[in-house]
Amino acid sequence: MTESLSADVLVALEILVLEYVEEHSLKILGTCPPWFTQLYPNTPLSLDASWIATHSPFLYNFLVDAADFWDQDQPGLYKSGLWCETDPQNQDLHLEASALKINRKRILLIKASLSDYTELLSFIQTARESSLDFIEERKQASESILRTTFYDALTGLPNQTYFLIQLAHGFERYRHKDNYHFAILIINIDRFQSINDSFGRLAGDQLLISIAWRLKKRLRESDIFARLSGDEFIILLDSIEEISSPLFAANQISTEFTHPFSLNGQELFITASMGISTTLMEYDRAEDLLRDANTAVSYAKTLGRSNYIVFDQTMHARAVRLLQLENDLKRALQEQELTLLYQPIVCLADQRIIGFEALVRWIHPTFGLISPLEFIPIAEEMGLMMAIDQWILKESCFRIQQWRKFTDEPLSISVNFSAKLFDKFDLALQIKQVLRETGISPQYLMIEITESIVFSQVKAAVNTLHQLKDLGVRLCIDDFGTGYASLKYLQQLPVDTLKIDRSFIKMMDPNNLDLVRSIILLAHDLGMNVTAEGIETSAQRQYLLDLGCQEAQGHLFSHPVDGQVALQLLQAKSIL
Ligand code: C2E
Ligand code: MG
Ligand code: MG
Repeated sequence: MTESLSADVLVALEILVLEYVEEHSLKILGTCPPWFTQLYPNTPLSLDASWIATHSPFLYNFLVDAADFWDQDQPGLYKSGLWCETDPQNQDLHLEASALKINRKRILLIKASLSDYTELLSFIQTARESSLDFIEERKQASESILRTTFYDALTGLPNQTYFLIQLAHGFERYRHKDNYHFAILIINIDRFQSINDSFGRLAGDQLLISIAWRLKKRLRESDIFARLSGDEFIILLDSIEEISSPLFAANQISTEFTHPFSLNGQELFITASMGISTTLMEYDRAEDLLRDANTAVSYAKTLGRSNYIVFDQTMHARAVRLLQLENDLKRALQEQELTLLYQPIVCLADQRIIGFEALVRWIHPTFGLISPLEFIPIAEEMGLMMAIDQWILKESCFRIQQWRKFTDEPLSISVNFSAKLFDKFDLALQIKQVLRETGISPQYLMIEITESIVFSQVKAAVNTLHQLKDLGVRLCIDDFGTGYASLKYLQQLPVDTLKIDRSFIKMMDPNNLDLVRSIILLAHDLGMNVTAEGIETSAQRQYLLDLGCQEAQGHLFSHPVDGQVALQLLQAKSIL
């Protein structure tokens, strides 16, 4: 009987899709591959569970048990693996089951290994013949269920569910077949949110469809291309021999993005970041490949646009650390793990301390000292920065209020503010409250905002900075020279000080002073002060003095120190 079955049916039997209707009741809805590929539209297969129960109690029990077995799965999670059963009457029949659960619907995939096809095929074929009426009845319903289950409604591409099934298959092949390898490539569209924001969701959807179809043309028949979620696509590159194959594919995909997309009659250039993982690295579980491709694409994103990255182990360590930091950061404030260091700002001419910059540190219980450069972006992402900024502001103002008793200087404290401040919270109001609580006079508080933040949202910045100025606090543009300050706006900003970024200070030598000179001249022309940051040598100090810079900070004078040492430095009147 098996010999008479067509190749189509053979493919169809590779996976049966079953819907677990209620406890101990299963319905076989159809067979997957024909539906997915639409190559075999005439081989749907629907079987009634009660029919199976009568004709093959073994198979029925197997299905029910397997479904119960997988019942512990989390919704949405695919659990791959083998679950084999032997028919007590027929020792030859081995079945494997894997399952996934989508919301409340459970789908069970049954595979028979090649040698067992004979048994299974003859059984299924008989079943099929006996239930033709049932097939007709169920056909349409099954079709639409399968479509929504395995296809993405927007792009028409296979969806994540379908991809996971194919991934499990690919992984089985990799485990059992010598020298078979495959790669996963995740493609994430860069700045897709801003496309949605500027052109509207419908246009965003249109773009996703265009991307899907453009990339599809690039791939081989054997590659599986699916939409993973929102602006993320995934490809399973079948049968690769070495790492150059996925790299080549990624390169080709990048090339596709060099041509503009047409959106609302407008030409739009977009880019994508890609992450790759391959079985060329040893893997025990298919999920881990997916996880690593994800890690790689996240990493590619941090490098800027249009990068593709192959996963390596250091990335895993980094991702684990990131996750740990995210988990722990929520507690850090309550547990008082954040602390402030203070770096003196001195008058260049006589090295009197005229202020301090508050610099935050996280003393992590296991990792030790963590730089703000590492944890502030995480805190911003998690929406914790507002609370952290407020704590820093309060703590700094209390400190300076105490220290002012030990000096006759108009000692000020400089506090950095993070990137999200212009849109997320009413900065002026917060500062006003802290000034009132701590009783510090506003001119002793200097707010530092980096140049790139100010000029990336300059209209909002002009507004906010004027509100702050009205409170009487002083304003400093930090890391000046690294962003794209516009002269037009710089003139409009009520800024007191430009702080030259330390990369420019580092570059200074007798033949290379023009840049710093022109920043100083510009600041003075605009009636602003200049602070130079990152002075490490006395030569740098001398250049800056010669160029007319008044204030500085850097390791030459003092590293950032804790509050106690800061006070000692202050009481010593000057540094050196
Ligand atoms: P920034 O505001 O430009 O701070 C100056 C950075 O340069 C500090 O690094 C400081 O320790 C370092 N530095 C000072 N003098 C020298 C020197 O002579 N040589 C070298 N190589 N480095 C020097 P830090 O403390 O790691 O802070 C890095 C950045 O993190 C800061 O840059 C600031 O953007 C951000 N940050 C620090 N504390 C806070 C904070 O309390 N709130 C916010 N929002 N951001 C902060
Ligand atoms: Mg600063
Ligand atoms: Mg700086």
